[in-house]
Amino acid sequence: MNIIDSPFRGLGGVVHNFNAGPSILPKTVFEQAAAAILNYNDTRLSILELGHRTSLFQSVMDEARALVRELMQLDDDHEVLFLHGGASTQFMQVPMNLLDDKETAAFADTGVWSTKAIKEAKLFGKVEIVCSSRDAGFSFIPKDFAVPNDAKYLHITTNNTIYGSQWQTIPKTSNSLVADMSSDILSRVLDFNTFDLIYAGAQKNMGPTGVNLVIVNKNILGKVKRAIPTIMDYRNHIKEGSMLNTPPVFAVYVCMLTLRWLKSQGGVAAIEKLNNEKAALLYAAIDESPLFKGTINKEDRSKMNVCFVMNDPSLEEAFLNFTKENGIVGIKGHRLVGGFRASLYNALPISSVEVLVQLMKAFESKNA
Ligand SMILES: *Cc1c(COP(=O)(O)O)cnc(C)c1O
Repeated sequence: MNIIDSPFRGLGGVVHNFNAGPSILPKTVFEQAAAAILNYNDTRLSILELGHRTSLFQSVMDEARALVRELMQLDDDHEVLFLHGGASTQFMQVPMNLLDDKETAAFADTGVWSTKAIKEAKLFGKVEIVCSSRDAGFSFIPKDFAVPNDAKYLHITTNNTIYGSQWQTIPKTSNSLVADMSSDILSRVLDFNTFDLIYAGAQKNMGPTGVNLVIVNKNILGKVKRAIPTIMDYRNHIKEGSMLNTPPVFAVYVCMLTLRWLKSQGGVAAIEKLNNEKAALLYAAIDESPLFKGTINKEDRSKMNVCFVMNDPSLEEAFLNFTKENGIVGIKGHRLVGGFRASLYNALPISSVEVLVQLMKAFESKNA
């Protein structure tokens, strides 16, 4: 059955899923994952009932880790892990592994998720906020700031999912660089080896909820004095090949399928080109519009989460209903921000953006 035409995706019509996360994945991934729940690779076993120590699952884990390494062109110092707990667990696990209590971690404060990461780091050491856009409602990415030489690392959130801003240039620093890439992982080419640690909850751009991707330079580990609980110590996960305990088998499997799909599309560079086209199309419609306006400094706008409002907020509900009637899902802005947010993750086809733009234009002519 074609998933897009299934009764689960809207009566009769195509659904355009702009959800911020959990979010759209490639249709072929849904089809393969659905089939694997009933009969994994002709084993007559469901992927949900496979032992994680079987060679069947070992090959899934191996392929998922190898695809991340290949797609992100990681060097041998960088280890790839799939861990439990969502990105929020990394807010704690990163400082627990990297920051001693007398040491300082530097943070760029660019939105809700940065703020949460800062709060957890303070439990383990000192925190210095080296730049912030808080006073401007997180509407830009700070440019000129200094990081103290002795800061153990600089933490940035590469894409601010809620506000819709994104670091277009990764700051150059002599410090170790740590990044929360939850909402733009695998969406654009970066020199990923310049980061000592990258983490991302899978459910925005690479898989279902329930698993985290963590990429860590093994040379930075083992430097803190505190005792680290076994399950929290990255070194144990590395030693056990990301199978220290039962991994989230199904989530890793779906990530692996999505990574395979990304490779088949031409990899990160090819998807970045498409992501740029999608974002350019929607931002152009916003900038031309008499009714809509963007909320983020133009040069800092996110290619993943496009946030916008209406000049007349009393029209917002009518626009939301109009888009809903036409198959658009998930464009209501985050409750902290209001307005609209259209998430344009890798799997969202450009045709969905075209439909949204057409609906904006139709609404404009009705309400001009
Ligand atoms: C969604 C999100 C998180 C939180 O992820 P969980 O998996 O729910 O813990 C953290 N950081 C960013 C940038 C996010 O978009």
